[in-house]
Amino acid sequence: MTSVPADLLVTNVTIAAPSTGWVPTAGWLACRDGRITGFGRIGDIAPRAVKAIDGEGGLVLPGLRNGHTHGSEILARGVADGLELADWLAEVWPRLDALTPEQMAIAVRFGALLSIRCGITSMVDHMRRNPMSDEVIEAAAAAYESVGMRALISVMVRDRAGANHRSVGAGHLGAPEPAHRQLARIAAAAQRLASDRIGIGVGPSASVRCTDEMLSGVASLSRDSGLPIHVHAAESAAEVADERRDFGMTSFERMERLGMLGRRTACAHCVWLEPRDIEILAGTGSVVVHNPVSNLRLKSGIADLPGLRAGGVEVAIGTDGAASNDGVDVWEALKFAALLPRRNAGTAAMPGSIALLDMVTTSGAAALGGRGVPFEVGSPADFCLYPAAEAPIGNDDSFAAALVLSVPRRPSHVVIGGALVLEQGAFLHVDEAETARQARHLARELMA
Ligand SMILES: [Zn+2]
Repeated sequence: MTSVPADLLVTNVTIAAPSTGWVPTAGWLACRDGRITGFGRIGDIAPRAVKAIDGEGGLVLPGLRNGHTHGSEILARGVADGLELADWLAEVWPRLDALTPEQMAIAVRFGALLSIRCGITSMVDHMRRNPMSDEVIEAAAAAYESVGMRALISVMVRDRAGANHRSVGAGHLGAPEPAHRQLARIAAAAQRLASDRIGIGVGPSASVRCTDEMLSGVASLSRDSGLPIHVHAAESAAEVADERRDFGMTSFERMERLGMLGRRTACAHCVWLEPRDIEILAGTGSVVVHNPVSNLRLKSGIADLPGLRAGGVEVAIGTDGAASNDGVDVWEALKFAALLPRRNAGTAAMPGSIALLDMVTTSGAAALGGRGVPFEVGSPADFCLYPAAEAPIGNDDSFAAALVLSVPRRPSHVVIGGALVLEQGAFLHVDEAETARQARHLARELMA
C-alpha cells in the first residue's frame, strides 16, 4: 500500500499542470486536508481515500485564476453596448452603486457560480460600491464563502472629486470620504474577514481618480499589513492624457514615486504604455492583468502582450467585470489573448500556448497576491475535472494549443481547498436555480 495520505482521490484521469510543462500524464491524484498529497501514473498503486472519484478518462487541470473582475457587474451583462469607457461608466455604475448588502451578496454568489462553471477556482473581485460600507464587504465575503470560492476582495478606493474631467468620472457621487477613513475600513475588514478562502486587498480605482495622499496611504497599508494592491492602470487613452495633464507624468511614474508598485501590486489593463512604463513594471515586479475582451468591448485598445512579456513583465489574464465582457469565462479571454497578437500577417504565434496556460494559473496566482507554482505536491487542492469529451487529443505540442484554442470547456467536478463544490455538474452547497432566479429578478429591477 502506498504511503500517500488521502481523503480525496481522483483516478482514471489525464493530468496537465504548469509544474510538468503541461505535458499530459495519465494517472491519479490524491489530496488531504485541503492540499495535494500525491500524483501517480497508471500502474502506481493509489492510496485509499474517504472519497474516491472515477474520472472516466477525463482531464484534470488546475483551477483557473481570474486576475481581474468586478463581481456585481454580473447583473449588467449586455448593458451600454457600443459605448466607450467614460460613457459606459456613467451608464452602468450609478445603478450598481445602489446595491444593498443583500443585493451585493446575490450578485457575488451568482457570479461565483458562473465562474466555477467556467473552471475558475479563484478570482480578484475589484469590488466597487459607492459609498463603500462594512456591511457590503461582509456580505460579499460571506457570499464567496457560501459557494466555497476563493476570492481576493480588493476593496475599491477613490478620493478625487468627480466634476473636473471625465476620466475621474462618478459625477453622480457626493464628496468623497477622506482617504484615511477609506483605508482604515479596509485594514479592519482584513482583520475581521480574511480566511483560508477569502483575502482582502486594497484597490485604488485608478491613479487618476486618487490624490497623492490616497496613493501613499495605499502603499503604507500594503507595506504594513501585507495586503495586495489591485489597480486599473492606463486602460484608455483619455485617462492617460488626463493624468499627464493633471500630474505631469504617467500613472506608473506616479505610482512608483509614491511607493505603490511592487510584487504585491497588480495593474489591470495597461493598454497605453510608454517604453519607460514597461521598465517600471518589470523593475518593480508588479503583475499586469490583461483583459483583452473587455478592452475590445469598450474600444479601449489592445494591450501589447508580446511587448510586455519581452520586457520581462509577469502577465495574468482577466475577464474584467461582466458588464464589459459580458461573462466571466477566462478560457475565452485566454483565446483572445492568444489570437490578438496574430491579427496581422507575418507575426509570430506568441506568447506560445504553454506560456498562456501559465498566465492563467501561475501568474494568476501572483495577481491574487501569492507566488509559486500552483498544483504540485503541497499546493492547495484547487482543480477541475473536465469530461473526457472535452479533453484534447494529440501529441504533447498540440495538446497545449488545443487547451488554449478549443473553447468553451466546462468542468463536471470542481475541487477548491480539497473540498468538492461541483460534483457531476451539480453545486453541492448552493441552490443554483434559486440564486439565478434572484439574480435575474434583481438585474431586471436595477437595469430597468
Ligand atoms: Zn475593471
